[in-house]
Amino acid sequence: MKREFAVIGLGRFGGSICHELSKEGMDVLAIDLDEDKVNEFKNIASHAVIADTTDEKVLKEIGIRNIDHVIVAIGDNIQASILTTLMLKELGIKKITVKAQNDYHEKVLRKIGADQVVHPERDMGKRIAHSIISNNILDHLELSDDHSIVEVKAGKKMSGRSLIDLDIRAQYGCNVVAIKKDKEINVSPMATVVIEDGDVLIVIGSDIDISRFEKNLV
Ligand code: ATP
Ligand code: ATP
Ligand code: CA
Repeated sequence: MKREFAVIGLGRFGGSICHELSKEGMDVLAIDLDEDKVNEFKNIASHAVIADTTDEKVLKEIGIRNIDHVIVAIGDNIQASILTTLMLKELGIKKITVKAQNDYHEKVLRKIGADQVVHPERDMGKRIAHSIISNNILDHLELSDDHSIVEVKAGKKMSGRSLIDLDIRAQYGCNVVAIKKDKEINVSPMATVVIEDGDVLIVIGSDIDISRFEKNLV
């Protein structure tokens, strides 16, 4: 089913969301204060309008109440981001995703009822840091403040050995939830599956446990 989205703030982050949603065939209303930004998205989004979203009257006029999911991607102006989120909440928008600049910003956004708060720069920084630590750490996804899922490429330390052999759960407290071999993916692998050089393991656990696992086996 086609859902209606609106993206407020067409900087690099909001702009990228707008591009991607449109590419996936979604109906997107693109909004920015800046006329040039709006013109840039005229041919990309379904609709593009110039508006100051801190003004409740303006929000009503552009028909924001018909939108299911609004993404607030206003960057540096924290006050505008908070005010916009508050208005959207008051207008009864079902789902609001907001980009936060820092932890204090996030705290306020949560208090006023933002459904999802994202920190793209911080999260991307973390993911890149993990891939810098080792070429074999392919990706890192945060599940909560202290739990993650990592994607790691098996090297010499793991190849030719099974999960039982490596005793991963008992030794490191982590679970291998899937093993990718070339294009095939084995979800919930048997403990006897032998890991080969270049296999990709999807591992879930606490950050402390994952870090021990990475130090010893990756
Ligand atoms: P990015 O890092 O994603 O490029 P940024 O952090 O540089 O973004 P800004 O450029 O500060 O973010 O803001 C993103 C966009 O939000 C800008 O294009 C800006 O014009 C728009 N914006 C700021 N305030 C408002 C507002 N009150 N109403 C609508 N759009 C706004
Ligand atoms: P456990 O004692 O952890 O409950 P188990 O009794 O289910 O394990 P097996 O399934 O034979 O026994 O696994 C033996 C050991 O192999 C486990 O203790 C664990 O260390 C490791 N292991 C098996 N499957 C996995 C997995 N998916 N991820 C991580 N380690 C595993
Ligand atoms: Ca920025």
